[in-house]
Amino acid sequence: MIEDKNQQRTPLSELGEFKLIEHLTQHFKITQETTIKGIGDDAAIIDIKDKQIVVSTDLLVEGVHFDLSYVPLKHLGYKAMMVNISDICAMNAKATQVTVSIAVSNRFPLEALEELYAGISTASKLYNIDVIGGDTTSSTSGLIISITAIGEVNANDVVLRSGAKPNDLIVVSGDIGGAYMGLQVLEREKEVFKVNPNSQPDLSMYTYIVERQLKPEARKDIVDLLQQLNVKPTSMIDISDGLSSEIIHLCKQSNVGCDLYENKIPLDPQVISTCEEFNIDSTTIALNGGEDYELLMTISQDDFPKIKGNPNLTVVGYITEKDRGMHLVTRGETKIPIIAKGWNALGENIE
Ligand code: ADP
Ligand code: MG
Repeated sequence: MIEDKNQQRTPLSELGEFKLIEHLTQHFKITQETTIKGIGDDAAIIDIKDKQIVVSTDLLVEGVHFDLSYVPLKHLGYKAMMVNISDICAMNAKATQVTVSIAVSNRFPLEALEELYAGISTASKLYNIDVIGGDTTSSTSGLIISITAIGEVNANDVVLRSGAKPNDLIVVSGDIGGAYMGLQVLEREKEVFKVNPNSQPDLSMYTYIVERQLKPEARKDIVDLLQQLNVKPTSMIDISDGLSSEIIHLCKQSNVGCDLYENKIPLDPQVISTCEEFNIDSTTIALNGGEDYELLMTISQDDFPKIKGNPNLTVVGYITEKDRGMHLVTRGETKIPIIAKGWNALGENIE
């Protein structure tokens, strides 16, 4: 569906593993002062000094997490970086280094991997992160990418999932549901394309939500903003699987309950209009969609004046005692229990 403008196809076998690694990694520059040794030895070296170090890994598998018929490889590289940086942000930490490992089948030419690495490189420059290593191997089927992100944080600034207290406010950054609706649009276009390969998708009405799906941003800016506002959340998690499953994680790990207000959930107008077009309830999408990579946090009521009116942060509810349970307060003011229907890698119901 997305046209391959790059017609040159150099088989990977022409280079061999070592030349391939060298080719893909030759332009990476070290910018972090904590990186002592990057790519090129048996292991990288990081000197984190008096900070704490946070580490997070994600694995992305073709056919499970992405579909190359509508995801350009450059976007995939960028997104793979964001998925990991977002986890570091959710610890209230600053991502500083990554390692990138790939397993690739010989159906991919060198040019495809160059595209993937162009996305990785763009993300590393924009977010000021050093690519310090990885591994490269062959795969008998599709493409597999695993990125490990490393970050630093002052011991006093770390925010866990487990710190929420009754009466804390529940706050969401940005808006949610866009990435899921973007995926719906792309999947619909893919079906149209299957029937009529000459059709050119017109995505102009859906630019925001398609971008939310294909080119998400980790909310490093929110971590910086919280620091500027002098707000340390009591708990935090990134929204990768959907608001409902993330709030359940926070509540369970903090031993608390919550009231989430349906009419407070931040939705972009394009999400609302696309939900209407697809005849889907926008609250269901916001609760269960996922892949928005926004931050969900709880903050003390005392900090409310500091975030009040900030367009990047929306209060969507508050934390209650555990025995009150976890509820969505609907527009009609009825309370319904929150259950996790978020996307789940193993296809199970996570409740
Ligand atoms: P080893 O034999 O010790 O696994 P490799 O030959 O796989 O070493 O890797 C050589 C160097 O290149 C190492 O520094 C490694 O971290 C880095 N590297 C290997 N594959 C990748 C990759 N896909 N992306 C970035 N760096 C890589
Ligand atoms: Mg290796």
